[in-house]
Amino acid sequence: MRIPALIAALAGLAACTTTGQDQAERRPVSIRFALLKDGQPASCAAPLGALGVGKVPAILRDARFYVQDVALIDSSGAAIPVTLTANDWQIASERAGQVALIDFETGSGSCAGGTPATNTVITGSVPAGFYTGVSFTIGVPAALNHTSIEKSQAPLNSAAMNWSWQTGRKFMKIEADPAGGVRKPDGSTAPTWFFHLGSTECSGNPATGEIAQCKRPNRLPVTLAGFDPAHQAVALDLTSLFAASDIARDQGAAVGCMSGPTDADCPPIFGQLGVSLANGMPVDAGKSAIFRAVSK
Ligand code: CA
Repeated sequence: MRIPALIAALAGLAACTTTGQDQAERRPVSIRFALLKDGQPASCAAPLGALGVGKVPAILRDARFYVQDVALIDSSGAAIPVTLTANDWQIASERAGQVALIDFETGSGSCAGGTPATNTVITGSVPAGFYTGVSFTIGVPAALNHTSIEKSQAPLNSAAMNWSWQTGRKFMKIEADPAGGVRKPDGSTAPTWFFHLGSTECSGNPATGEIAQCKRPNRLPVTLAGFDPAHQAVALDLTSLFAASDIARDQGAAVGCMSGPTDADCPPIFGQLGVSLANGMPVDAGKSAIFRAVSK
């Protein structure tokens, strides 16, 4: 072989090797989510059974939440960010941040009138390595939160998850209908007990170019130290979420809790979340009682 050909061959070999290494450096990851009540799958297709402190029979009306800051935990305890795959359920913006929507609401059964599409998985990639856990935050990054739903791409264009340009999105929306309805302070009843989590007491109007600042961010960071995405799912436990709430009764303001700092129905459910109603910050970051790892 002449020298120039040998150099060309070696260069080609080097290029192949580099490409192979690049591909090996990242690997795909899928993180599955589940919705549970008393350890069983909860859905719009069947009654939830007894829910809350009064153990009132209930049906599910809605269950969706936004997830940001998805990471896998490596063996040294470091959170290694998952780069989300851009699709109809995920935004992966280098400038504004990444967010995914998990949606258990089927638009049928007890959720009739909603939206049929559902999503229970987050997909992306991580550097190849050994991981022992997962972390994520229930929320929408601030730069993506205070935006117009009409001008946003999916999944931030969901009207069901919109509050307003100033307050941003509902980070979590869980709604249930108790048998007999929700008795309000005036003696009337409403069909649905609402739980809407989102930033509150925001100032600055993004519609006029101002940056919204929220006194109570109400984002919920979650860490599951032992989590294997190949064999486990992240479960939102409705039993735990509603464990301290009486869903047959409303004590004023919004029916249920819409993150209002003076709504008497909010302290019990915020207590279960692990978010301070007083300042909107996590009480014990990562240690929420409502999420846990379960077998797929
Ligand atoms: Ca209330």
